[in-house]
Amino acid sequence: MRTRVVVLGAGFGGLELTTILSDAFGNAVEIVLIDKNDAFVFGFSKLDVMFGRQMPVEARHPYRDIVKPGVRFLQSTVRSIDPKARRVVADDETFEADILVVALGADLDPAATSGLVGGGNEFYSVAGAFGLRDLLPRFERGPVIIGVTGKSFKCPPAPSETALLLHDYLVDRGRREATEISVVMPFGTPIPPSPDTSQAILAAFADRGIRFVKDSLVKALDPRRKVAVLSDGTEMPYELFLGVPVHRVPQVVVESGLAADAYGWVPVNKKTLETNFPGVYAVGDVNGVGTAKAGVFAEGAARVVAAGIIAQLRGGPSPEAYKGDGSCYVEFGHGQVGKVHVDFLSGPKPVGTFHGASEALVAEKAHFGSSRLQRWFGQTPS
Ligand SMILES: Cc1cc2nc3c(=O)[nH]c(=O)nc-3n(C[C@H](O)[C@H](O)[C@H](O)COP(=O)(O)OP(=O)(O)OC[C@H]3O[C@@H](n4cnc5c(N)ncnc54)[C@H](O)[C@@H]3O)c2cc1C
Repeated sequence: MRTRVVVLGAGFGGLELTTILSDAFGNAVEIVLIDKNDAFVFGFSKLDVMFGRQMPVEARHPYRDIVKPGVRFLQSTVRSIDPKARRVVADDETFEADILVVALGADLDPAATSGLVGGGNEFYSVAGAFGLRDLLPRFERGPVIIGVTGKSFKCPPAPSETALLLHDYLVDRGRREATEISVVMPFGTPIPPSPDTSQAILAAFADRGIRFVKDSLVKALDPRRKVAVLSDGTEMPYELFLGVPVHRVPQVVVESGLAADAYGWVPVNKKTLETNFPGVYAVGDVNGVGTAKAGVFAEGAARVVAAGIIAQLRGGPSPEAYKGDGSCYVEFGHGQVGKVHVDFLSGPKPVGTFHGASEALVAEKAHFGSSRLQRWFGQTPS
């Protein structure tokens, strides 16, 4: 009997893990990769599509293109997980796993913010971001709020990047003078672990007349009066609201007992990413390991879990512990990209290093994307 590894979720974490295991074992190990969607979309592509820099079809990478030894991709929704028995019920099939990896990411809950559904927009889901591509060209004047609605959210630079890209977009359309841009964030600075990155973003905001509202969340929208209500009760008028919805643990994960509740990310061993259940791992946004929620960290976690599985099956020495570090690219507008490297777990607090915005980093970011597509989907880099 071949060892069966079942991977739930084909995002950054699931795709990286599956690729490494297939490269290592080929057909000797059975890998089942399950996702409810038919295609992968990079988080950063949502901004590219929203601002008209990429066509929606170019941003979607169909899972049917995954052809790897030992790997079967199944498009299906995971309905229940029994971590003790390592049993997974998907829409059409039930799986018993020798090793189970939960990489289901973070769910978005726009309805948790009163008025957001129907009265505002969100740009974190594929549907939300792609829909804004058609809405933004019709925006002519008035205040825009880019507002975060929950404390824990993916890709902390994304709201700031959105403000800077929106500035360029409105300048190009000749509408910037008729508009105001504000960013509402629950942090004191845009990227708390890296004062240099924060300073560079705040300088770019000051340069472009973008207002940064710190230490605040948007708690509700009143679409009738067109105001956003912040955590301290302050009201801010908006004509266009671009929201980061509340993030929560996927319900199927809560019901499995892997997480305590909708906001208690799955506890894991910080070194191995193993959950409290033997042979069950949680990688990426779904876990509570203490890094930011970003693709690079999901990918790093997947590498550690893959190395652990390889060592277990081959009987080798234990792999190195998870370091919880990684680099995120930051869109600064004006055709430039910066980079911040953050180490979350080595020291008493997260430490970030900033690489200033440049055109060279635009190419590096493009390579980051194309190299993943090559590795995960076998696409030839352009
Ligand atoms: C606007 C924006 C910009 C971003 N930019 C960056 C960036 O520049 N760099 C970066 O590193 N990160 C970025 N991110 C964050 C990044 O996209 C996520 O952190 C990353 O995708 C997390 O990887 P993951 O594997 O944990 O989860 P995901 O990639 O979210 O994958 C989870 C998968 O599980 C599937 N799933 C969920 N529930 C079920 C179910 N019940 N049954 C079956 N399948 C299910 C989902 O369909 C999904 O494919 C950005 C995010 C956004 C929103």
